[in-house]
Amino acid sequence: MKPIQLVDLRTQYLDIKQDVDKAILDVLDSTSFIGGENVQALSLELQAYLGIRHVIPCANGTDALQIALMAVGCKPGDEILTPSFTYIATCEVIALLGLKPVFVEVDPDFFTIDIDDARSKITSKTKAIVPVHLYGQCANMDQVMSLSKEFDLKVIEDTAQAIGSKHTGEDGVKSAGGIGDIGTTSFFPSKNLGCYGDGGAIFTNNDELAVSLKRIANHGQTKRYYHDYIGVNSRLDNIQAAVLRIKLKRLNTYAKNRQEAANFYNDAFASFTQIETPKISPWSTHVYHQYTMKLNDIDRNQLQEYLSSAAIPSNIYYPVPAHRQKGYQEFFAGKAELSITDDLSARVLSLPIHTEMEQAQLKHITSTLIEFIEK
Ligand SMILES: *Cc1c(COP(=O)(O)O)cnc(C)c1O
Repeated sequence: MKPIQLVDLRTQYLDIKQDVDKAILDVLDSTSFIGGENVQALSLELQAYLGIRHVIPCANGTDALQIALMAVGCKPGDEILTPSFTYIATCEVIALLGLKPVFVEVDPDFFTIDIDDARSKITSKTKAIVPVHLYGQCANMDQVMSLSKEFDLKVIEDTAQAIGSKHTGEDGVKSAGGIGDIGTTSFFPSKNLGCYGDGGAIFTNNDELAVSLKRIANHGQTKRYYHDYIGVNSRLDNIQAAVLRIKLKRLNTYAKNRQEAANFYNDAFASFTQIETPKISPWSTHVYHQYTMKLNDIDRNQLQEYLSSAAIPSNIYYPVPAHRQKGYQEFFAGKAELSITDDLSARVLSLPIHTEMEQAQLKHITSTLIEFIEK
């Protein structure tokens, strides 16, 4: 059995090494490092794959969120609804732009934004809502879109963990990131579609927004050396785009591999009340960026130590929710508790999941975990 890793990028690389090495050498040979044909081609291929009109590559998923918030015209002091139970980048860019993150609860089953709590926090200053498709499953976008219509909110989907996930809603089946005004994603190496460095992209079906997003990502430039807005410098490089094009061709297989690993875990743990396996929502497929369980009456530290002594890594996404982070207290001071979020942070645990899991590894992980429960 190969050593177990949370994400095994090396085995995946060895499988596509020939293609990747050639593609990277071709870029070196072209010396077209920034922009370049792979960046252009990746945009078109992603547009076709996702069924989204515009895909604008950028430097990382955090930039993608920032550029999205800038493009919808948020002004300092505007309030932005976002789950506290997310990776910090979502809240960070809101705060960086002088906007106010308003922390919203999540659904305890699906880990995505709780629409009733979001509704109760809307004020005259609320400008946008940023649902996060956490762990690989879409938030309930029918609810998000109807709330946004009712209160005239912009919708930015943080799709960093859910690229390729499909949402079935009132408007039919759509790709994660293609439902709201703007979708954003990350190509960080460990993401479901990851490059070999940093990368990200912004999605929209709105032609006008696409123009603004492109300009903002390129120094607010309208034509060369003319800057009608204050923008940022955020680009994907040609080498990363070359790697992503190769992996995009395999993204469906990669998702299937992750789903098979998740099914193995689900079956193994089905009869143990101490483990709540991830629930599948009726409105979304799950691409299992993470396999995250909720533990009942289990000491999480002890379990992690037990797994670790059997050479099984595990991780907590995320041990401290945004509203409890020291740097974010000014936005939480005096606000109502987020008891579901706090409870989840204390109980979730994620097991290794990636595109190259072996049966022997899965058996070792599940039997070790069950051994711990039955001790
Ligand atoms: C990874 C991630 C980001 C940030 O992406 P980077 O490319 O690392 O900047 C944002 N939001 C979520 C939910 C993420 O998981």
